[in-house]
Amino acid sequence: MLQLKSMVRVRFAPSPTGFPHVGNMRTALFTWLFARHHGGRFIVRIEDTDVARRVEGAVEAILDSLRWLGLDWDEGPGVGGDYGPYYQSQRLKIYQEAARRLVDGGYAYRCYCSPQRLEEMRAEQVRRHQPPGYDRRCRYLSDEERFDYEAQGIVPVVRFKVPLSGQTTFTDLIKGEVTVDNSHLDDFVLLKSDGYPTYHLANVCDDHLMEISHVIRADEWLSSTPRHKLLYDALGYSLPHFAHLPMILGPDRSKLGKRHGATSVVEFREQGYLPEAMVNFLALLGWSLDDRTEIIGREELIRNFSLERISKTGAIFSHQKLLWMNGVYIRQLPVEDLAQRMMPFLDRDLPASIERPVDKGYLLKIVPLIQERMKLLSESAELTDFFFVDDLAYEADLLLMEGLPPERSIEALEQSLPRLQALPNFDAESLEGLLRPLAGELGLKTGQFFGLLRVATTGRTAAPPLFQTMEVLGRDRCLKRLRAALGRLKD
Ligand code: GLU
Repeated sequence: MLQLKSMVRVRFAPSPTGFPHVGNMRTALFTWLFARHHGGRFIVRIEDTDVARRVEGAVEAILDSLRWLGLDWDEGPGVGGDYGPYYQSQRLKIYQEAARRLVDGGYAYRCYCSPQRLEEMRAEQVRRHQPPGYDRRCRYLSDEERFDYEAQGIVPVVRFKVPLSGQTTFTDLIKGEVTVDNSHLDDFVLLKSDGYPTYHLANVCDDHLMEISHVIRADEWLSSTPRHKLLYDALGYSLPHFAHLPMILGPDRSKLGKRHGATSVVEFREQGYLPEAMVNFLALLGWSLDDRTEIIGREELIRNFSLERISKTGAIFSHQKLLWMNGVYIRQLPVEDLAQRMMPFLDRDLPASIERPVDKGYLLKIVPLIQERMKLLSESAELTDFFFVDDLAYEADLLLMEGLPPERSIEALEQSLPRLQALPNFDAESLEGLLRPLAGELGLKTGQFFGLLRVATTGRTAAPPLFQTMEVLGRDRCLKRLRAALGRLKD
């Protein structure tokens, strides 16, 4: 065990071809947890060799998402390390050299086929119902033919010479033993004609050079691993351990996608999910502590994480569960902390007429009243705006309580006003002490009277507990609002 501890080096190797989604972050999280559990190193490597598919801003979005989730890295962009550079686009010489070595050793060959020829070949394969793949024409070129192509100035790609028979086998720490017939693999490209490596070559070179002990990645790469195994062998590199994480599925058991709702990490953040809830939720996408525990904090995850408890089968992503979990985490937050996290959302969503930033002291009094009900930070404004606005906007009809003619409501408010004005302490307890008996005096059911006061002071029929709300609003605001309600009733 101790030996393993000193050896664990794992990497998260995103391609900046899009914005990070939950699948990417689940991979990052599991890899990070594995590193932290074993006291190893967590490395971030940017696999940016697919120039055509590079997306502007994607690297920053990926790094931001890692930071947001608290997945700190020991080597990689911004922090450096002994195995850099950590951007593959800055390591092209390494891959070109490896490709040359493979060609020289007879493990790879230069292919001069034009894109048109490859296109025709593909069409022909489709027509004949043959499996797709390169037909290996250039594998068998004579020296003369090769010389000829070179003389024409055709820049070749480099392809791997897959053995024509036999099998390739490796053991995956999650899926078990995986075997493929070599005849099912085509001579895949290692180096493109622009000098950029393909994913396969760059990935294998770097995992070796960066001394990666465990390759932890998404299920979708499992089919690439036999090719990688062949490459490791040909390059004389020893094989790392492999662990392919189960697929993430929607509730309908198809691969998680846009049609299942938000999947981008940026969206989750904007919707007001807490990073700690997100981490907990992602950790349970394919891993479990036991078959019951749902709420597991970061330290507990680190302590307990193991590849052994990763499931072989797909993990279901449930937005409902995530929402529930976020509510749990929001309720656990200290008031001060929740207030702090609500600030940017209030800033973003409160009506423009309300001064920014909102009064922090006032907000600290409001938070305990809404904390129980909040599931998303993005509900901050809708749950609290009535505390901030100067004039409540609501339909006058809301002031009409069932079974209560308007005159009685008017009377109730008129009776309440001077007493509230005179109340020595405007706190919840005193308010209740005043208003509960007053309902009786006025001959009203408490439900009617309090309902009326609730609408008058908050503009809504559902709001946090009335007396606490009135206390937080304060005497001046309450009186002003009751007078405004009276005006509306009289109109
Ligand atoms: N660049 C690949 C990706 O985006 C990395 C796969 C791997 O980890 O080997 O996901």
